[in-house]
Amino acid sequence: MLAIQANQVSPTVTQLAAGKAVKYSYDFGQKTDGSAQMRELLGGKGANLAEMARIGLPVPPGFTITTEACTYFFNNGHQPPQTLQQEVKASIARIEQAVGKKLGAAKHPLLLSVRSGARESMPGMMDTILNLGLNDETVEALATESGNEAFAYDCYRRFIQMYGDVVMGVQALNENDHCPFESCLEQLRNQAGVEHDNELTATELKELIAHYKAIILTRTGAAFPQDVHQQLWGAIKAVFHSWQNERATLYRQKYCIPAEWGTAVNVQAMVFGNMGDQCATGVAFTRNPANGEKSFYGEYLINAQGEDVVAGIRTPQPIAQLKDAMPQVYAELEAVRKQLESHFKDMQDLEFTVENGKLWMLQTRNGKRTGLAAVRIAVELVKEKLIDPKTALLKIPADSISSLLVAVFDPAAVRQATVLTTGLPAGPGAASGKICFTAGQAEAVAAKGGHAILCRVETTPEDLRGMIAADAILTSRGGVSSHAALVARQMNKVCVCGASAVAINYGASTLTIGDNVLGEGDDISIDGTTGEIFAGAVATAPSEVEQVLHGKLDANDSDTYRLYNQVMKWADKHRKLGVRTNADSPRQADAAIAYGAEGIGLCRTEHMFFEGDRITFMRQMILATDEKERRTALKQLLPFQREDFSGLFKAMGGLPVTIRLLDPPLHEFLPHDESSKRELANAIGVDVDVVSNRVHALHEANPMLGHRGCRLGIAYPEITEMQARAIFEAAAACYKLKNPIKVIPEIMIPLVGFADELKHQVAVVHRVAAEVMKKEDVEFKYLVGTMIEVPRGALTADKIAETAEFFSFGTNDLTQTALGMSRDDAGSFLGTYKDLDILPQNPFASIDADGVGQLIEIGAQKGRKTNKQLKLGICGEHGGDPASIEFFHKVGLNYVSCSPARVPAARLAAAQAALKAKI
Ligand code: PEP
Ligand code: MG
Repeated sequence: MLAIQANQVSPTVTQLAAGKAVKYSYDFGQKTDGSAQMRELLGGKGANLAEMARIGLPVPPGFTITTEACTYFFNNGHQPPQTLQQEVKASIARIEQAVGKKLGAAKHPLLLSVRSGARESMPGMMDTILNLGLNDETVEALATESGNEAFAYDCYRRFIQMYGDVVMGVQALNENDHCPFESCLEQLRNQAGVEHDNELTATELKELIAHYKAIILTRTGAAFPQDVHQQLWGAIKAVFHSWQNERATLYRQKYCIPAEWGTAVNVQAMVFGNMGDQCATGVAFTRNPANGEKSFYGEYLINAQGEDVVAGIRTPQPIAQLKDAMPQVYAELEAVRKQLESHFKDMQDLEFTVENGKLWMLQTRNGKRTGLAAVRIAVELVKEKLIDPKTALLKIPADSISSLLVAVFDPAAVRQATVLTTGLPAGPGAASGKICFTAGQAEAVAAKGGHAILCRVETTPEDLRGMIAADAILTSRGGVSSHAALVARQMNKVCVCGASAVAINYGASTLTIGDNVLGEGDDISIDGTTGEIFAGAVATAPSEVEQVLHGKLDANDSDTYRLYNQVMKWADKHRKLGVRTNADSPRQADAAIAYGAEGIGLCRTEHMFFEGDRITFMRQMILATDEKERRTALKQLLPFQREDFSGLFKAMGGLPVTIRLLDPPLHEFLPHDESSKRELANAIGVDVDVVSNRVHALHEANPMLGHRGCRLGIAYPEITEMQARAIFEAAAACYKLKNPIKVIPEIMIPLVGFADELKHQVAVVHRVAAEVMKKEDVEFKYLVGTMIEVPRGALTADKIAETAEFFSFGTNDLTQTALGMSRDDAGSFLGTYKDLDILPQNPFASIDADGVGQLIEIGAQKGRKTNKQLKLGICGEHGGDPASIEFFHKVGLNYVSCSPARVPAARLAAAQAALKAKI
């Protein structure tokens, strides 16, 4: 998402300062007021229409009503600004003059399209109205002037349908209902015995129009308006309204697009792709948006109107065929493709119409793409010298690097599996899961932790919830540029579309391919890289990148690896932040190192106690009633701990390892059900009542704020002592190896809010260190630091830094304690907060910069005031979140630490943060 540039002053502010009336409408075409730089005001579509006009591409004339007009509309009781009336009138007059037609005239009537266009493209989420200006009178003029009566009446029926739907709200009543206009149209096609709409005669279309008008009147109580100005304002207001419709709102929330941005409205002279065989309409990407390949990628339909291509009603032709069908137009389009790429320096998603052999450009925008395509396109644009590596880094959404690491199907499993059919590969990756036919089913499967494959004839924006919940999307209709494919790609979902051999019957809840009849909940597997569809659940295997990183595939045999490696190299050159990992086992450490982690930023020692017997000793230790009992349990735990640390130190080969001492909210470790209490009682040789009583005694009303963190080690210093001993003994052993590993352990005390808490624990650590070094007869360096994860710790960081050699911000707890929101329970109300825009995103996933961020800044500043060399890191979940990483860079932390799989994205995000800071 583009950030708002602080130095970009809104034209409104400038206009107001100059005492001028605010300008709400900007022309493009023969006279062009806007440009690509003005996307905040004109929306992406409007700004780029202006830019295309500026660089001499053929754009039908029109004007863009600004996003500010939309904001005004919502802030003023759904009324557009007064002055907009005059501006629109003047702009229409200029279009009329440019094309020699007049809106509403009985001769040469001007027809318009009215389309939405937000700052960030939101494909299919808002509304469009085409052929505006048609009524019972102008349609006759269009029929006469085009010499094609069926065309004119088809335009009219489409307009009534769109207007009825978008402006007057005549729609399907629920997910299983059909659009009343479409049902009526289908009935007419059946009656007429034709397959396609464009085979209907003028007489049949007139009959259809009468039905459409009747549907509108019955459903709304109002007649379809004949007044063209009423039509125009109805359409403009409806497009404004569509900014707040349910699917647009959901989309905005998913992609963190602020509600206050609003949408622009683009009003433009119509050009027709449906006037006959010398006409066409199409959508295309300048490169393949699924895999990034440099090939012209798209589809067109002869004799069709724009929406037909994406609606999936007729199957479009691949763009390459246009070369034979309309060689001249294709050559022009190829030239436009090149010009657009070199002008915008990015892959473009364009829409065009051919009206009687003349090419018109209707839209261009940076194309949505999969993660894989984002990486490949960026790398290849550098090779082609269109951009430099820094620009390339900024073009790749940091999270998309993760899609190079997603699973593929296991080659052995694929050999055993049956390919049922092949569709169009629209979103790479491999997925298997349960067949779901509706968004609700997909959500239900995902809510239970299952994997859903959303199977639809074609997805509409109403399916968005299901697409978010599902692992993958399968459609039986619609091409590679259908809305389904666009949205799936953007979400980085595995997607196969247009699998025409798949018959989906919603009523019977069946998916049939040949003789195979599958039902809801059955397993299916799809490969979005090849388009293959398999019966059953096919096992997946690690990505090629992972296979190369672990020596299972030669780097030279994997293009995906080469892309990954190039981007990581560029990223490492520019980033300032170190990237460590949160790992508790050598396996996790190995995985993270392969992904480029530069150390362990957090080893949660309590996680080491979940396996086998250890949990019993751990519970025994927690339940102990006196020091002696506790020491007995600790003695059992010591060798496990020493072994674990030694494994970690060896895996990290001398890279820094930060080990956090015990910090369990006790409830996480206590046995709760009767059978585990009995098991524990047996294991430690006491009566089950003893265990029950002790569990009862240890019950805490609020364990997250209870006896945890350093409070444990302060109450029971023998715990700290055991852990410190295990760490130092493991380190000493590393120094004594034949090939010594020079470990510098970093011991981290959790949940410190008072300087004296830290002092108390540090004293224990130092004492044990001295004892071990003496006993083992080896000297080595180590650091003792603390986590800053309660507000008091941040606010008194200057005092804490007198003892700490490093800080690591525990932003999970810091968010919990600063916001007073339980990290375990916030899920129950955060959804509502998001819906109401109280919190734009989950503060446990992306840092609350205004609130928690201040504490981090204060903690960092105060800490460094006491100790200039103080090392600062962050190890909460936010360490892997790109937006948070940008914030941590600004605050001047030394490193972020995140889960192994997020390390590559964190490296990229850190480079982007450094580059953005220089812009
Ligand atoms: C934190 O609080 O951010 C942290 C890393 O510790 P934990 O999640 O283990 O509480
Ligand atoms: Mg914590």
